[in-house]
Amino acid sequence: MHLHRRILVTGGAGFLGSSLCDRLLAAGHDVLCVDNFFTGTKDNIAHLLGNPHFELLRHDVTFPLYVEVDEIYNLACPASPIHYQVDPVQTTKTSVHGAINVLGLCKRLKAKILQASTSEIYGDPVVHPQPERYWGNVNPIGPRACYDEGKRCAETLFFSYRQQYRVRIKVARIFNTYGPRMHMNDGRVVSNFIVQALRGEPITLYGDGGQTRSFCYVDDMVHGLVSLMNTEDDFTGPINLGSAGEVTIAGLAETVIALTGSKSKTVHKPLPSDDPRQRRPDIALAREKLGWEPTTTLENGLSKTIAYFEELLRRHPRHVASA
Ligand code: NAD
Ligand code: UDP
Ligand code: UDP
Repeated sequence: MHLHRRILVTGGAGFLGSSLCDRLLAAGHDVLCVDNFFTGTKDNIAHLLGNPHFELLRHDVTFPLYVEVDEIYNLACPASPIHYQVDPVQTTKTSVHGAINVLGLCKRLKAKILQASTSEIYGDPVVHPQPERYWGNVNPIGPRACYDEGKRCAETLFFSYRQQYRVRIKVARIFNTYGPRMHMNDGRVVSNFIVQALRGEPITLYGDGGQTRSFCYVDDMVHGLVSLMNTEDDFTGPINLGSAGEVTIAGLAETVIALTGSKSKTVHKPLPSDDPRQRRPDIALAREKLGWEPTTTLENGLSKTIAYFEELLRRHPRHVASA
């Protein structure tokens, strides 16, 4: 049993953050959700607003934040290329200035802090699958750099604050995660394909569809993040969290078409530049240190996500998905 704690979740109104808030509240903690609603929405947390153990603060993490908490999950950062490329300077500031502020906060409070890092640390990897010791292959001036390099610098800051000030840190490298509350129009592949299939529109395969990803269901990811936070203080990561089940994007399209019973056909569109060719985490460390691995099959996770988007489309039929 874990003691009751006051927990700050930055980016708490987002896809992953809102599920994390749900889980922490269900475990009996007090949750302070901080978000500037850049990509998150109040809809994701509307069901929590009446809960006396939940508090919402509209705030941009690039500015200092003075609150009192025991633990911090730092998730604030747009995660999809469409969103993080709109304002690349703000994206890097969110990762870098945001990390400095939450680390400064954590240092003052002697709290514990978890960083939502990313598989993009590895860039377009030449080592496959990716273990944590791999340093990555990132273009520092490409279209993904504002996100990738911002997240890399945030990792550096986390380890420097640990080395210099003994801040208790945890760094999770999150691989592609999907599930209910994904944005309908942020261009990520799972939401795009499901919405296209449900509407009977063409499924947009970028490139030849032979590139691979490994998709983790949101509940499994949130479980992994909480397990990491609860490890001993001497365990910092970085640690990969994600699914070891690698699929091609063309294969994902077929699965979505089959599960939705859609008549949609695939169409090819140009591959975005610097799009990683392959991605799969080596999760041996997570298995060993956290006793964690995803348990939701892709079919089950996709079915739940399809049900979520069906309901959303019923309520908002004119929403425009992006391709
Ligand atoms: P999301 O866009 O749904 O959530 C990010 C949240 O951060 C949003 O609510 C947004 O409004 C908020 N935010 C952005 N900039 C902010 C700022 N300056 N100040 C305060 N709030 C701000 O994305 P997500 O998929 O839930 O991702 C959450 C975290 O996990 C991100 O840090 C992301 O980089 C990381 N991550 C996600 C994935 C994935 O597949 N979903 C993969 C790797 C890493
Ligand atoms: N900070 C904050 N909340 C706090 C403590 C610090 O937002 O409770 C910010 C502060 O504004 C500073 C940053 O965190 O810019 C880094 O703090 P640190 O103590 O490392 O740096 P310093 O204040 O010495 O520049
Ligand atoms: N993708 C695709 N069609 C889409 C959206 C994405 O083929 O409508 C591809 C994209 O080129 C990439 C993969 O799916 O190879 C995953 O894209 P996403 O943006 O979801 O995540 P990331 O590239 O950040 O892993």
